[in-house]
Amino acid sequence: MTVAYVGLGSNLGDRERLIRRAAELIGTQRLSSVIETDPWGYENQPRFLNAVAEIDTPLTARQLLVFLLDVERRLGRERIGPRWGPRCIDLDILLFGDETIDESGLVVPHPRLIEREFALRPLAELVPSLKIPGNGTVQEALAGLQSLP
Ligand code: ATP
Ligand code: CA
Ligand code: CA
Repeated sequence: MTVAYVGLGSNLGDRERLIRRAAELIGTQRLSSVIETDPWGYENQPRFLNAVAEIDTPLTARQLLVFLLDVERRLGRERIGPRWGPRCIDLDILLFGDETIDESGLVVPHPRLIEREFALRPLAELVPSLKIPGNGTVQEALAGLQSLP
């Protein structure tokens, strides 16, 4: 079994229901607060709700990704529109145990985790002292981001 952290995001439809339903479907053991955040990477779209789920999974990281993409589909995610554009649900693997993975279609830790307050803030609520492979702790990454101009 591996403890993994999944980032959840939604900015279309009943955002809170979609986040909570997705959290349930992926077998969440602990869910962070659900926070409202500004869009990242593509500005002209509704605000997001974001959260982080802690799961304990028997799957490999690759199997977990396939499962998450399937849950997104079941909740109505359509892969259309611009990169980082609006979506009813997005499920990303932020951390998978202490693994570092760099394969086609799967990079862990999530390559943009340490640039994203919307992911680090809820993650820090769950596991502030957890080490991010290749970086410091979650808390340190968040502090580094917040100290930027
Ligand atoms: P971002 O990855 O910057 O958060 P996004 O979530 O909008 O952007 P998607 O369109 O949802 O991107 O996903 C594109 C692809 O990213 C997925 O099909 C998947 O193969 C790949 N991917 C690579 N690493 C990960 C990861 N750690 N978690 C989820 N998807 C990943
Ligand atoms: Ca994402
Ligand atoms: Ca995604």
